Amino acid sequence: MEQKLEVLRQVFGYPSFRPGQEELMDALLSRRDAVGIMPTGAGKSLCYQIPALLFPGLTLVVSPLISLMKDQVGALVQNGIRGAYLNSSLTYRQYRAALRNARNGVYKIIYVAPERLLTPEFLDFAQNAPISMVTVDEAHCVSQWGQDFRPSYLTIPEFLGKLPSRPVVSAFTATATPKVREDILSLLDLKDPFVSVTSFDRPNLSFQVLRPKSKLPQLLSLLEERRGQSGIVYCATRKGVEEVCAALRERGFSATRYHAGLSDGERQENQEDFLYDRAPVMVATNAFGMGIDKSNVSFVIHYNMPKDLESYYQEAGRAGRDGSPAACILLYSRGDVALNRFLLTHSDEGGYVEEELLEELTRQNEERLRAMEGYCLTTACLREYLLHYFGEQAPTQCGNCGPLQKETGRGTMEQAPTQCGNCGNCLGRFVEEDITPQTREVLSCVRFLRQRYGVTLVTEVLRGSKSEKVRRLGFQKLPCYGSLRALSASALRDLISALVLQDYLTLSPGEYPTLSLGPRAGSVLQGRENVRLRVREGEASPVRAKTSGPLPQGDPELYQRLWKLRVRLSRIQNVPTYVIFSNASLQAMAALQPCQPQEFLEIPGVGQAKLQRYGKAFLGEIRQWKQERERSAKQEGEHDHDH
Ligand code: ADP
Ligand code: MG
Repeated sequence: MEQKLEVLRQVFGYPSFRPGQEELMDALLSRRDAVGIMPTGAGKSLCYQIPALLFPGLTLVVSPLISLMKDQVGALVQNGIRGAYLNSSLTYRQYRAALRNARNGVYKIIYVAPERLLTPEFLDFAQNAPISMVTVDEAHCVSQWGQDFRPSYLTIPEFLGKLPSRPVVSAFTATATPKVREDILSLLDLKDPFVSVTSFDRPNLSFQVLRPKSKLPQLLSLLEERRGQSGIVYCATRKGVEEVCAALRERGFSATRYHAGLSDGERQENQEDFLYDRAPVMVATNAFGMGIDKSNVSFVIHYNMPKDLESYYQEAGRAGRDGSPAACILLYSRGDVALNRFLLTHSDEGGYVEEELLEELTRQNEERLRAMEGYCLTTACLREYLLHYFGEQAPTQCGNCGPLQKETGRGTMEQAPTQCGNCGNCLGRFVEEDITPQTREVLSCVRFLRQRYGVTLVTEVLRGSKSEKVRRLGFQKLPCYGSLRALSASALRDLISALVLQDYLTLSPGEYPTLSLGPRAGSVLQGRENVRLRVREGEASPVRAKTSGPLPQGDPELYQRLWKLRVRLSRIQNVPTYVIFSNASLQAMAALQPCQPQEFLEIPGVGQAKLQRYGKAFLGEIRQWKQERERSAKQEGEHDHDH
């Protein structure tokens, strides 16, 4: 079984396995079916690629997207592995040629689109080929509950049934919902599979929510700190994409854009500019990303809050796939909530649906939106919030020390809330305020208004507004009229949001939500409960976690040179930059500064094939940089002597 470690080191150039990988490989190598449910970037590909290389026969990988196949095969070839793909991007001649090669046993791994499986030509090939394993990548596509349902995934069991002997079957996905998991197990007809679920925590990602008064300047300063890195800026609308992209270009950032309003040709071109690092910053709507496996994305900034945490975690999760530190930052404004509510109620996704179902869907959308807003407003650990939402416990503390304890003033120790130590809230500074009096005013106002009005009117009444509506309804006579005029409108709205989040108030679903008293309101109004709120000390400023800074290790200048070399090589060979080396590999080079082939092999991601292919270029660049540095150090020394 140690063969697999040998392959990991020799072929892929990595020293050790990541969580979950080894167990899955062991199962497959003992010819047991297996299912791997692991987050994006966890390294699912190796789980089947290494066994594929060790099996005597061929491995077929069913994969849903042309771009994914192209990338995966590109990466295999770079590592000296014989692989190919069969999909509709090939001309018929190319397809025939690839099949011929396949028949002659040229390939170890073949990626195939699900639609091909039952075509006579492919079936004829498959029935006569020594197939050791069939792998289903992005296996959630088999489920109607998933976002990316692909009916042709349902033909996989039929295809397996037509093979002369049943190969080992493995399936992989990053989708965690129970319904989808069940579907994968039942619809793919797996036999007593070994199932491995790894945590959805992505420790190398730092999370942060900022609430800037004005978003564009904030975005610019975040990008300024990250010049030279590659990242994605997600906007809610096409118009937003256009404006932000133009503003970035004006400031000299190499940014490109992507949304459904652009022609196919331009989308393709812009996507490639991003993948090849010719335009390291991509400004896009959520139309961008599915099937983008760019592993060297160092940040994902959301210019608007998305509609739910599922979307957020998926989009933010496109950062840091190669395991190096990456930042996920969300720029929140209350307008985003209204915008999403508008988009949700005015989307006609899915066409006609029955009234009852529509109501249920609306309710679910609203609930998800609330949870998303909760993420933006919470002052607790953001990682914990996300993982909890996905049904997982967050790790307590960093792992290098015990759970956080705190003095409670009564002399006893009590476990503090979860702290990941790598999000804006764990690193931010907060103070606790007693907000019982203000809360009482808000609650009694809602009660006076007989729980029939929304946040806007409640805010107006409490701040003593002279608006037409307030006067027409006669609310200026209420005892609570103007009782919180000391607070700004936005501070008051924040307070109300916080009270909703903590169940002191309830907000009805729908396009015109109304405020009513929540389950915890009674005890406050009766004076039995005090309300405390954690508030940020001063203006929220971007936390500079150690890990979200520009470059954590290695010489930054050398790193930039290696980065540029990688861009040049990517152009020459017409492959994305990260297929050549990941950022993590470049960082290791900039830190260890290898000059000999043997040292180059020590770099994670450098196997035999990459040593052959790139050793000369990268070692040459490093040597040259060292020489130049020595020379200039010497010259400086001589200058010192002169004086
Ligand atoms: P996903 O689970 O999203 O399919 P990939 O298989 O694309 O993830 O892997 C993400 C990145 O992690 C790739 O750059 C891959 O080379 C790298 N990787 C996978 N396994 C390891 C490992 N054991 N050590 C270091 N890097 C790894
Ligand atoms: Mg994958």
